[in-house]
Amino acid sequence: MKFIKKLEVKKLSILKKIFGDLDDKEIKKLMKTVQKIEDLEPQIEILSDQELKNKTDEFRNRLSAGETEDDILVEAFAVVREAAWRSVGMKHFPVQLLGGIVLHQGRIAEMKTGEGKTLVATLPAYLNALKGEGVHVVTVNDYLAKRDSENMGRVYEFLGLTVGLVVHGLDFGEKQNAYNSDITYGTNNEYGFDYLRDNMVIRMEQRVQRPLNYAIIDEVDSILIDEARTPLIISGSGDKSTKLYNLVDNFVKKLKAEIDFTIDEKANSVVLTDEGGLVKTEKAFGIDNLADMENMELSHHINQALRANFLMKRDKDYVVNNGQVVIVDEFTGRLMPGRRYSNGLHQAIEAKENVKVERESKTLATITFQNYFRMYKKLSGMTGTAKTEEEEFKAIYNMDVLSIPTNKPMIREDMVDAVYKTEMGKFQAIVQEIKRRHEIGQPVLVGTISIERSEVLSKMLKKEGVTHQVLNAKYHEKEAEIISMAGQKDAVTISTNMAGRGTDIVLGEGVKEVGGLHILGTERHESRRIDNQLRGRSGRQGDPGSSQFFISLEDELMRLFGSDKIIGLVDTLGLPEDVPIENKMLSKGIENAQKKVEGRNFDIRKHVLQYDNVMNKQREIIYAQRKTVLEGGDIHDQILKMLDGLIDESLNLYTGFSEHFEEWDLDGLKEHLRLLLSDEFDINWDRSGLNRDEIKNMINKKAMEIIDNKEEDIGKERFRDLERVVMLRVVDRKWMDHIDDMEQLKQGIGLRAYGQIDPVVAYTNEGFDMFEEMTHNIQEDTVKYLFNMEVRKEPVQEKANVLENVVTNKDESLKRDPVVKKDKPGRNDPCPCGSGKKYKKCCGRNE
Ligand code: ADP
Ligand code: MG
Repeated sequence: MKFIKKLEVKKLSILKKIFGDLDDKEIKKLMKTVQKIEDLEPQIEILSDQELKNKTDEFRNRLSAGETEDDILVEAFAVVREAAWRSVGMKHFPVQLLGGIVLHQGRIAEMKTGEGKTLVATLPAYLNALKGEGVHVVTVNDYLAKRDSENMGRVYEFLGLTVGLVVHGLDFGEKQNAYNSDITYGTNNEYGFDYLRDNMVIRMEQRVQRPLNYAIIDEVDSILIDEARTPLIISGSGDKSTKLYNLVDNFVKKLKAEIDFTIDEKANSVVLTDEGGLVKTEKAFGIDNLADMENMELSHHINQALRANFLMKRDKDYVVNNGQVVIVDEFTGRLMPGRRYSNGLHQAIEAKENVKVERESKTLATITFQNYFRMYKKLSGMTGTAKTEEEEFKAIYNMDVLSIPTNKPMIREDMVDAVYKTEMGKFQAIVQEIKRRHEIGQPVLVGTISIERSEVLSKMLKKEGVTHQVLNAKYHEKEAEIISMAGQKDAVTISTNMAGRGTDIVLGEGVKEVGGLHILGTERHESRRIDNQLRGRSGRQGDPGSSQFFISLEDELMRLFGSDKIIGLVDTLGLPEDVPIENKMLSKGIENAQKKVEGRNFDIRKHVLQYDNVMNKQREIIYAQRKTVLEGGDIHDQILKMLDGLIDESLNLYTGFSEHFEEWDLDGLKEHLRLLLSDEFDINWDRSGLNRDEIKNMINKKAMEIIDNKEEDIGKERFRDLERVVMLRVVDRKWMDHIDDMEQLKQGIGLRAYGQIDPVVAYTNEGFDMFEEMTHNIQEDTVKYLFNMEVRKEPVQEKANVLENVVTNKDESLKRDPVVKKDKPGRNDPCPCGSGKKYKKCCGRNE
């Protein structure tokens, strides 16, 4: 075993070498193009402003004459470079041109902090906007989107392109305008939400986005990796009662650790013990078996209450503000008002904290960032830290990562970790270290992993009389303002890990002389990438600087994932608390712990994606259908087909495939059709001598008569329009319910998938069944609505409104009139044959 492991390590390092070389080779190749761009400078420099601007039209013409973007890249980049110089006084460095090419190729450019990625983006954004299909530049917050669109907007506008900004709170017109611009800046959240909202509208002209063409994602690791575990959700309020939360919370609070439940911090779960908690629960709620299907809801509540009470920590995971539970972003330490934990966890925490339990919300639409961004025709990204996650970028987005050299050599000194036995010892040492550097006027930026740690440290510094700033502002803008001052003389700034990401830190006067900005990390993050981000805040553009992490064996990372070997080693050294241990094996051990967690987190994200892929396929189908309908296609034929299918189905149901008409339940059939197709449905069939086809023809004829009458009443054109509106409404309602059902299925699949069945496979299969069922229901409801529609005749001014009134007014009456299916159980109901299996798995198998 050991031998194999060694071999693997060796193989890896060889691979790394090859890849390293590949990067270099690739860069050498691309540098030739860079050279060509630079060579154009003398020719471009002499153009007048107007001549430079005219280049845009020239490029557009050449593109429509058949040249490709690649053909004009060199010239276009040279033009943007000159325009940037004239409009914002910056000329792209060669490495920035290099980064621009990489972005244009749909890859990830890893460029260190301070290398000017904002300016880099102007190159591919301009080039790819020329065709007029839109370019989206994606940033992590509204503040950065606004800043970048304003600053870089001057470059684009100089060249005659339009620039838009999508941020929260714009009205419809403003938003549509922004999306119709040549280049649009905005946040990942806003783009994603707009996409979802666009797929809930009834009219094409209510959409804001154009088809997704090309995106440049800034801080791409943050968006595609850190945020990949929380999907975007548009929700409305549901109708479930909130009482059970308080009830379960009271019960769970009385349970005792170890006896009634065990906490598995690694797996982030709490489990009832068989002997203790489980028995108590079943007794308290008067049930036989908590694991039974029928107790699924209770079981779910208990689980969430356990997590809320024993895993989720106040002031670390969330805070309670004015009677509200507000999530704390794990990566930035920032409060996220308005966001809620899903699946009832948020409510469970509200019960735990004795604040009002909000109603459970219903998911109306949802998508993960992975699946949203994979829809762009071309995707690219930039960040200071991507190489450690290259495998993930490659596997999930098919983007490779190219490390771009820095413009000036990097001279920051990254010191070895100082490791302490206890957390207290560590914090004391940190305070001393800050004081020592502060005394000579060197600015220190201290990174913590939570608001709570920031505050502890702040108190300790106050006691020592060290003036400092704590960054836990709620507003990005304020945050950016504070962090931008972190490089000034004497400044001591405490900040959670990535707060203020994207803000430029300029060194103050006299700071270079005292060693530049010093970064002090107070704990290692789970991911090496986040640590590198923190380090990267110092040493920009060849500035001097230094960085060091302080760690204790009591830190969460070490406690959970450090090996016993390390702890044993420290014990044998027998050092006092506040003396740092510097040992190579230790540093290696920490890195291994991080790799372990990174691997686990990648697995979790892959898992999320596996599940979401099932939904994604279904979403694609539904959204594609919606789109055809929205685009005004005539769906009359489609509706007639649905009708035909439904009539066939009804016939089968009431004639039971029998050839003998004595066995047919024609009265039942008529009643069924009356409910399905309207009260007007009435046929006097003389049963003798009719065969099945003849009956079908009669039904068809009558149905067509009803629908043709309706059409005549309403007017042909308007009826076509109504068909579309009705269909969209029905699809949306069913789809929203389906999203909820799928979520329930996912939650329960662990329980249902027994034996050797992979839960993902079970989820896929059952999800497919449910999708089919939904499709069937959509057809049934669409036909039903159309046949039962009554149109109010009074003139109303706005056409769109009239149509919507008609449909919503009918909703209620339809609810009271469900189609009764004779003797036919639902697909998920128990089979009437008494086998105990579901109908669809038993007698209903062949339906
Ligand atoms: P990054 O996003 O890579 O961390 P920014 O885009 O915030 O870097 O840029 C950092 C700083 O460098 C900004 O102040 C920007 O104006 C400046 N800068 C970028 N490119 C150039 C350039 N070619 N010439 C001069 N200054 C530049
Ligand atoms: Mg940036």
